[in-house]
Amino acid sequence: MVRRVLVTGGNRGIGLAIVHRCLSDHGDTHVVLACRSASRGEDAVAALITERPDWKARLTVLEIDTSSDGSVRAAAATLEGSCGNPALYAIVNNAGIASGTVAEILNVNVRGPKRVDDAFGPLLDPLEGRVVQISSGAASGCVSRSSPDMAAFFTNASVSWREISGLLEAVEANPDLEAHGIGAAMGAYGLSKALLNAYAMALARERPELKVNACSPGMVATDIMGSFLPWWVPLPNAAVRFLATKLAGAKTPDEGTVSALHLLFSEELEGNGRYYGSDAKRSPL
Ligand code: NDP
Repeated sequence: MVRRVLVTGGNRGIGLAIVHRCLSDHGDTHVVLACRSASRGEDAVAALITERPDWKARLTVLEIDTSSDGSVRAAAATLEGSCGNPALYAIVNNAGIASGTVAEILNVNVRGPKRVDDAFGPLLDPLEGRVVQISSGAASGCVSRSSPDMAAFFTNASVSWREISGLLEAVEANPDLEAHGIGAAMGAYGLSKALLNAYAMALARERPELKVNACSPGMVATDIMGSFLPWWVPLPNAAVRFLATKLAGAKTPDEGTVSALHLLFSEELEGNGRYYGSDAKRSPL
């Protein structure tokens, strides 16, 4: 039985490394490499099959812009049309951004996974389906610096999507995070990942038949690191990755896949709706 795994933002960085690990270590998988540019997806596939030509039969590129309802719904219809239902073993919500306006970051990092789960969730195998939300240690930074009420909100195991959505709307209307009692040191990025963890808890309660969890990849040398540099230090992506490795000890994308792979395939997960650190161990929020 083929286990089909959808990875958003699968064309580069940690997403591409997760795709690679599925192909190299889990021979029963077929990877749906989802990305917002089909040509960038095809380039990623071309690089993968240079290493192992037989992987071509286990890869499908699916164009998805996770910031768009229409794009996500059309992609789900395409997958269902070609694979039937259940079409999927797992969804990895990896696509993410760390620069842009508060609303843009929340749209991709929180509403994006919700959109994908709403559209593709019905295609998950109800007997063994899994959802992995790629979160970040920045979530903990946000929670620990927030007011006691907000910290309680982020870590409330009974939180609903309706409540998360209410907070999203409030922040979209007034992006001054501190005015909401939200720790602002990690900016909208930290908030987005704290809300992604909360959403993982809500989804796990909503769909108890699935295994839904979130994890941090740790600090990984990818292009996203450039978003954390001051705007007056524009560096090419390759230089950002080099400096992240040499000066900050950032891991390789492959080393950043440990927890995601654990949440995807381990038979020994502790519970559901949890947040895992980059070492595949449960971590407090
Ligand atoms: P990259 O910037 O290398 O990759 C980001 C990926 O997300 C790209 O494939 C990008 O596609 C995709 N993406 C962005 N916006 C959208 C969108 N609207 N629709 C579809 N795809 C989109 O970063 P990483 O690999 O590091 O990031 C992957 C995940 O890991 C993110 O969720 C990030 O927050 C998380 N993370 C990363 C850490 C790190 O240290 N690197 C630490 C903690 C968490 P495109 O190529 O088209 O731009």
